[in-house]
Amino acid sequence: MDLRSPNPYWLLKNGLISNYPSLPKTTKTEIVVMGAGITGALCAWHLVNAGFKVIICDKRHVGMGSTAASTALLQYEIDTPLYELIEKTSESAAVRSYELCAYSITALEKICRNFDGQAGFTYRPSLQYASLKKHVANHKKEFTLRKKHGFKVSWWDADKFETIMGFSAPAAIYSQLGAEVDAYQLTHHLLQHCIKNGAQVYDNTVVEKISHGKKTVSLLTGTGITITAKHLVIACGYESQNYIPKKVERLHSTYAMVSEPLPSQDFWYRNSLIWETANPYLYLRTTKDKRILIGGLDDDFYSPEKRDAAIPRKAQQLLTAFRKKFPQIPFKPDFQWAGTFASTKDGLPYIGSIRQRPHTSFALGFGGNGITFSLLAAEQLTASLCNRPDPDMALFSFNR
Ligand SMILES: Cc1cc2nc3c(=O)[nH]c(=O)nc-3n(C[C@H](O)[C@H](O)[C@H](O)COP(=O)(O)OP(=O)(O)OC[C@H]3O[C@@H](n4cnc5c(N)ncnc54)[C@H](O)[C@@H]3O)c2cc1C
Repeated sequence: MDLRSPNPYWLLKNGLISNYPSLPKTTKTEIVVMGAGITGALCAWHLVNAGFKVIICDKRHVGMGSTAASTALLQYEIDTPLYELIEKTSESAAVRSYELCAYSITALEKICRNFDGQAGFTYRPSLQYASLKKHVANHKKEFTLRKKHGFKVSWWDADKFETIMGFSAPAAIYSQLGAEVDAYQLTHHLLQHCIKNGAQVYDNTVVEKISHGKKTVSLLTGTGITITAKHLVIACGYESQNYIPKKVERLHSTYAMVSEPLPSQDFWYRNSLIWETANPYLYLRTTKDKRILIGGLDDDFYSPEKRDAAIPRKAQQLLTAFRKKFPQIPFKPDFQWAGTFASTKDGLPYIGSIRQRPHTSFALGFGGNGITFSLLAAEQLTASLCNRPDPDMALFSFNR
């Protein structure tokens, strides 16, 4: 699958952070993690810290799948608003899912504290404005529900919004908890920690066949080498669908651009993560090196050719939208890119096992909040492998 255009900003900024060999010979381990993006790296981090002997392998270079393209806003608000998720699941399941995503932001911060520069992790508030007047009623409903369930949110009416932000919107929810990170850098940091603690990481190692035995699982690579393990974690991002008989993902195209570094560090109120209620929505964040990142304008298709051909047009649209809101900020485009992403029927991830694949777990952080879901997958799968099954896993199971 072609996951992204060739030059996402994070890849150019960070370059090849570390080198990893390809798998040299047939080997055995306790747990093999297939996929070395942010999800596989977080799973490996938790598994290694829990004392497991772990091998991580990837057919690409480390972090060069969707992770390199990620704009990496960390929000507890998933693509499905709480009021809609309640209708799709139940009030308790929806609220718990939101609470877990909120928890995962703080858990990611704790992990990032271990690394120089904290992998770009910075707490940021999240500001979601109503794109149109007709969205206000549902937005208010969303605010009321979140407040009722203890999320730290405040309601901004149109006057307050304009006074603080300098452009107009009919209303907004201001939420204290959010963050931004550099997912590509974090992936390398996590894997370097794993290696220091005994794990083996191999890239350029494609798994072509998975065989499930009575007590083990074997992966056959493209060079005819085998990895045998007691357990397999599939963290292959949107390509994980290849290993699941039921269709669980819908593929979309998304676009992003980043400015040249700007002289000021403070662009707008607390450099919040800004997004909106329209679907598809536009979003904004800042970077540690004083840039502004704009993304969105998603298309409902998977066609790498059409996606990449649309980059100049989408970049122009993103720029026009930005200049309407912030005409005083001299945004000069520096890098543009596009990526594929997958959504699910309810906006929630799939974490856990399927009957057809014994000794195997899936860690699938789909949707706009893939990274917070990856953290949850890593914690829940590790707990389960330590014989401490997490009751919250039912929220994200394939049978939900
Ligand atoms: C433009 C864009 C913006 C985004 N913005 C956000 C955001 O703001 N916030 C957020 O939380 N999420 C965001 N996402 C989603 C987020 O980036 C993803 O959820 C996340 O990167 C997925 O990580 P992953 O490790 O699961 O997948 P990947 O990074 O794709 O890693 C999976 C790895 O599995 C490997 N693999 C696949 N098949 C095999 C095989 N057969 N053998 C060996 N290896 C294999 C691949 O090579 C790949 O490296 C965004 C995504 C895009 C594209």
